[in-house]
Amino acid sequence: MQTPQIVQPIKSIDELASFCKRAGFVFPSFEIYGGMAGFYDYGPRGVELKNNIKAQWWKSIVQDREDVVGIDAVTVNHPKVWEASGHVASFTDPLVDCKNCKSRFRADTLAKDILDADVAGSDLKTVTELLKKTNVRCPKCKGELTEARKYNLMFKTHVGPIESDENVAYLRPETAQLIYLNFKLVQDSARLKLPFGIAQIGRAYRNEIAPRDFLFRVREFEQMEMQYFIKPGAQSEQSSAAPRTKGASENKKFFEQWKKERMNWYLSLGIKKENLRFREHKKNELSHYAKAAADIEYNFPWGWGEIEGIHDRGDWDLSQHSKVSGKDLSYFDDEKKARFVPHVIEVSAGVDRAFLAFMCDAYKTEKERIVLKLNPKLAPIKAAVFPLVRNDKRIVKSAGNVFNELKKKFAVFYDASGNIGKSYRRQDEIGTPFCITVDFDSLKKKDVTVRDRDTMKQKRVKIKELTGYLEKQLR
Ligand code: ATP
Repeated sequence: MQTPQIVQPIKSIDELASFCKRAGFVFPSFEIYGGMAGFYDYGPRGVELKNNIKAQWWKSIVQDREDVVGIDAVTVNHPKVWEASGHVASFTDPLVDCKNCKSRFRADTLAKDILDADVAGSDLKTVTELLKKTNVRCPKCKGELTEARKYNLMFKTHVGPIESDENVAYLRPETAQLIYLNFKLVQDSARLKLPFGIAQIGRAYRNEIAPRDFLFRVREFEQMEMQYFIKPGAQSEQSSAAPRTKGASENKKFFEQWKKERMNWYLSLGIKKENLRFREHKKNELSHYAKAAADIEYNFPWGWGEIEGIHDRGDWDLSQHSKVSGKDLSYFDDEKKARFVPHVIEVSAGVDRAFLAFMCDAYKTEKERIVLKLNPKLAPIKAAVFPLVRNDKRIVKSAGNVFNELKKKFAVFYDASGNIGKSYRRQDEIGTPFCITVDFDSLKKKDVTVRDRDTMKQKRVKIKELTGYLEKQLR
């Protein structure tokens, strides 16, 4: 029996990117036309993993709870949405140009990468002065840099056949605003009482200045977001006439509760504790809408990076949309006979960054194999079925029967190549937790070998007990 050898974790994000391409997880978009920075397509294995991540999130946030419902809204958006939310004015990054080669960079990223300085929340003047004072030059040609200026990240388009200012629309840079717009309709139709949440998974678009680190910073991605509407708390600053609750702030209570829930979700799906941490935002780096914010960060091969944000958004969004649209988006509390604008605790995770974190955590190189130690719930394929040889009709037929039975319940794969060693390796690489082989003994004993991906140990399981066995392992 083999024992696992020295295990090497992932060395660089480039190593993962080339593995993802080779193994059918993720491909650079538009490759035959030379590609386009910040866009990736998911291949046959990747789409399954991505769907499983989204399904696990939806299950834990919507289906396992009684207080959260879901929606699915459009991605081409009315401009008023993003004017009201503050994104037209404030959804910006500081941009500098190289006066010589005309390359563009995020000024805050240059400060971090070159000076190891955190300038989050600093104004443009401060950032410009810092780069000048420390003589930061263009990383590509050493040319002189311009002053930092604001650059809006939203993609603009036009709706209808005329490209005029009246027809401007934006591709949404986050899914959250669509939840606020539907708040009243959802609350009325689903007859919800506070506290309750509205969740959504969908695409978001940001015209990032410098896409980087594979799937980490891309221009089209997916978010899993949930806005949890609560009664405003006693100690929060409020613009509304909300009923005041006694004791600790409701905002703080739910903020902490959701931080814990979300951290546990990553842990429950197998990410190692030492690779996850919280990072609380300083007051001066809070987004325009936030009263408090914490990131969940993952320890990527290049260092810690945000995979999810948890935000106390107060009543900013509903109040803004009420003000700009002239429509009442307040809530009437039957018991207290009071009307007020609810506050919101938001959990906002990126599907692609979660994908990257799960892959980085699972990817291991052992002496004889690459293995993806993904949680079985996330694995693209749950079990692979092989006939030991391909030239024995009885074995091939029996393996086919096992496959047909299992595929009723699980994502399974059939491989009749008859080269078991190679087949195991291929399945290890894509994270398949169980490999099932039908051999000569199977014909007499009506059982199969089930090989475990991580331990590489095999055991015999009766064919009629296989479905139950896998169900138990995947629970
Ligand atoms: P960053 O500071 O890294 O740009 P952010 O604070 O702007 O991220 P949020 O607006 O809080 O991010 O978005 C919520 C989540 O959406 C992030 O935690 C991340 O997982 C995902 N996300 C945001 N921007 C991108 C992007 N360009 N590519 C991939 N995922 C992204």
